[in-house]
Amino acid sequence: MASSVKVAVRVRPFNNRETNRGAKCVIQMQDKSTCIINPKQPKDTPKSFTFDYSYWSHSTAEDPCFASQRQVYLDIGEEMLLHAFEGYNVCIFAYGQTGAGKSYTMMGKQEPEQQGIIPQLCEDLFKRTAENFDPDLSYSVEVSYMEIYCERVRDLLNPKSKGPLRVREHPIMGPYVEDLSKLAVTNYTDIADLMDCGNKARTVAATNMNETSSRSHAVFTILFTQRRHDQMTNLDTEKVSKISLVDLAGSERADSSGAKGMRLKEGANINKSLTTLGKVISALADMQSTKKRKSDFIPYRDSVLTWLLRENLGGNSRTAMIAALSPADINYEETLSTLRYADRAK
Ligand code: ADP
Repeated sequence: MASSVKVAVRVRPFNNRETNRGAKCVIQMQDKSTCIINPKQPKDTPKSFTFDYSYWSHSTAEDPCFASQRQVYLDIGEEMLLHAFEGYNVCIFAYGQTGAGKSYTMMGKQEPEQQGIIPQLCEDLFKRTAENFDPDLSYSVEVSYMEIYCERVRDLLNPKSKGPLRVREHPIMGPYVEDLSKLAVTNYTDIADLMDCGNKARTVAATNMNETSSRSHAVFTILFTQRRHDQMTNLDTEKVSKISLVDLAGSERADSSGAKGMRLKEGANINKSLTTLGKVISALADMQSTKKRKSDFIPYRDSVLTWLLRENLGGNSRTAMIAALSPADINYEETLSTLRYADRAK
């Protein structure tokens, strides 16, 4: 049985600083495989990994592994959107060191060809609902946008809300965030405006608290409801899917930036959610491959992030992970640890 987690890795191009310093590229890609060369032992056999997709980001599109923002969306975003139309909960998350390309992959930039998975998926969602015209079928879309920082939840669509929000559990719907804004939207522009406000709130809050947004997880959720009316019985049936799109905190270890005190604690908290997420995903992958049905041992409860994503990760859901990589020799250790993390998720 195929794993329910799709795993992709994507290497970004060199940035100016790396180019100016003559950085060396330690990543090689061919088809689905990605190799990493240890810059201290360049003669050693490179470590090799295989993923569902290995994406290269050259300045030219001639390389066979080159993937544009559109291609990444078509491979991963569209597939997840189609699962949501079928009624599954879906989750896409971006993992990797700060500066490796997580936000670029998830959000991208303003220019149409540089838009990331989230704007393309939202646009496609409305396009498909408009095309699927059926007088007995109606759709509703609600969005929420939150940030998890040091195991506390902040509402990015209501930045004035005081203090962290409480995480609770509904007997049927599962874990949820109390008082989190859930706003109804009817077109793509509504979503784009809300995301813009949310992203600004994220930056302002981070600056006020003397942190950077790279230390928090940003979770954008779309609640997609398809309601079918049966003319004969005059009854409605509903199919509800939750689409969670997650830009994770930077995976770099706290000690590599000389963190002390609060920073170190913060680093430990962030790493705890990332480690727990890794454990949850590999436990789910094991469950798939061994066809075990028991999910008791999956440690969802060990972090707020995995607890809130429980309904989007296990059971009746589809998950994709994109691990963002830096090509540069100076990031070798972090890049190798990102590749290992991604490898465990398969
Ligand atoms: P992160 O969110 O992981 O901290 P960013 O997405 O902000 O990293 O990426 C850092 C920089 O690299 C940004 O300027 C971004 O535009 C650029 N970048 C990242 N990935 C790519 C890519 N695949 N192609 C082109 N530029 C990229």
